[in-house]
Amino acid sequence: MDKIGKNVVVIGGASTAAEAACYLAENGKNVTEICRQGRIAYDLNPIRSIGYMNSLAVKLGVKVKKNAQTLKIEPGRVTFRNAHGVERVLECDDVVVTGGFAPNAAAAIAFAQAAPEFYMIGDCRQPGTMRHAIRDAYAVAMQI
Ligand SMILES: Cc1cc2nc3c(=O)[nH]c(=O)nc-3n(C[C@H](O)[C@H](O)[C@H](O)COP(=O)(O)OP(=O)(O)OC[C@H]3O[C@@H](n4cnc5c(N)ncnc54)[C@H](O)[C@@H]3O)c2cc1C
Repeated sequence: MDKIGKNVVVIGGASTAAEAACYLAENGKNVTEICRQGRIAYDLNPIRSIGYMNSLAVKLGVKVKKNAQTLKIEPGRVTFRNAHGVERVLECDDVVVTGGFAPNAAAAIAFAQAAPEFYMIGDCRQPGTMRHAIRDAYAVAMQI
């Protein structure tokens, strides 16, 4: 945390970005989060998203730029388009980008010949949640 500057911009609006923003704010950083949706933690159910994460962000002083789009990241500044379509610049010391997930299928496929039967489950097949990974595992286990 000591290596991170005082002013931090978090890019992304899903729960991982919201959690990172709140964590940084809890640790004394001035945090601005740029989110393409109308609320942060949009991937959570409304009770946890609105009732918890969005309220927590407000309580901790996280400034959220909703319905906004990041345009450019340069040393010390992030340019974004706000909800009214106007370009704005945020000065900052550090940027945290949580722009989504992609599976690293190739790393898993490298093991395909290691055993007579090979199955891909969880995030290496399709990034999701623990529930998805467990459901995948159950489905495969029932076939074996
Ligand atoms: C920041 C973050 C927050 C999250 N929060 C939540 C949450 O609150 N609730 C929720 O349900 N889900 C959450 N998720 C998603 C959840 O963590 C994943 O969907 C779940 O862990 C996927 O399980 P998995 O077993 O497929 O993969 P992983 O849990 O990633 O396990 C894969 C394992 O394989 C190991 N590995 C990789 N390559 C090799 C190799 N070559 N040799 C040996 N081992 C290797 C890795 O080290 C790792 O331990 C979150 C994800 C992130 C990134």
